Amino acid sequence: MLVPKWIWKSGSFISWEYANTHIMCQGLHYGAGVFEGIRFYKTDKGGAIFRLDDHLDRLFYSARVLAMEVPFSRDDITVAIKELIHENKMEVGYIRPIIWYAEEKLGLGLLGRKVEIAILIFPWEKQKRGPLKVKISPYMRIHPKTTDVEAKLVGTYNNSQLALLDAQKEGYDDALLLDFKGDVAEASSSNIFIVSPSNTIYTPPPGSILPGITRDTIIKIARDNSYDIREEDFEVKDLLESREVFLCGTAMEIMPVLSVDEHYVRNFHYLINLVPGNITKHLSKLYSEVVLGNVARYQNWLTYA
Ligand code: PMP
Repeated sequence: MLVPKWIWKSGSFISWEYANTHIMCQGLHYGAGVFEGIRFYKTDKGGAIFRLDDHLDRLFYSARVLAMEVPFSRDDITVAIKELIHENKMEVGYIRPIIWYAEEKLGLGLLGRKVEIAILIFPWEKQKRGPLKVKISPYMRIHPKTTDVEAKLVGTYNNSQLALLDAQKEGYDDALLLDFKGDVAEASSSNIFIVSPSNTIYTPPPGSILPGITRDTIIKIARDNSYDIREEDFEVKDLLESREVFLCGTAMEIMPVLSVDEHYVRNFHYLINLVPGNITKHLSKLYSEVVLGNVARYQNWLTYA
């Protein structure tokens, strides 16, 4: 993995080897941390961070859920991210802000405990482009009454990790988790969309899922392009009858699904070549145009570094 030269930690730029925290911190022992995953792209006008405001909204929302007194403002974090991009001389990459309880003291109680914050940025390395083989997970997506499912809390990622571990051990690329009602919720770190036989696009509504920023982007750009797109629950049966299935998230963008358990998704039935379905392809193309700043109406989603 390519590592950045500079990391921002609680107000200072430090190098990779000094980016440490104490072994006793609550972030490590009890998963008491929150984080974000953000992308920046090389556009005609230089590096641009995609939907930074929305990611910062979610970061601060997550921090409030864990009663963190974040010692830096949104503006401080924005400046730090821009400086990191410049200092590390990158034009495209991934940004990982993380805030954690850092006090060197045992116990679960969080009130008044010391908080630390760091921001790492990574050069963008090409990911597997899919299409993906996914497995319906034996693990249920965390019940909305067991935690705050809309916050990106470090601790709740054990749910995703167990599901992913189970799927990968059996040779799948990812896991699909069902919610407590038995409806399809999401993959281990991405949201899901299906295209029905009548070309209606469905994605599960908020409730059990992390309502992703990519998901929101896709809903908006699909509506602009006159697709019939609905936030409605669906079951595994609907998934298996659908024409196209894709996952989405900041890191993977839009990723076609090849198969669910042992069933191929319809558009891949004739495995002549692994070209994604038409709607998946069209939305991927639109998404790329939007993140690169080529769509005037969504220019305000870009923050130039
Ligand atoms: N669900 C989960 C559990 C995730 O970890 C992510 C990645 N943040 C997503 C969905 C997609 O969210 P976003 O589009 O905001 O990256």
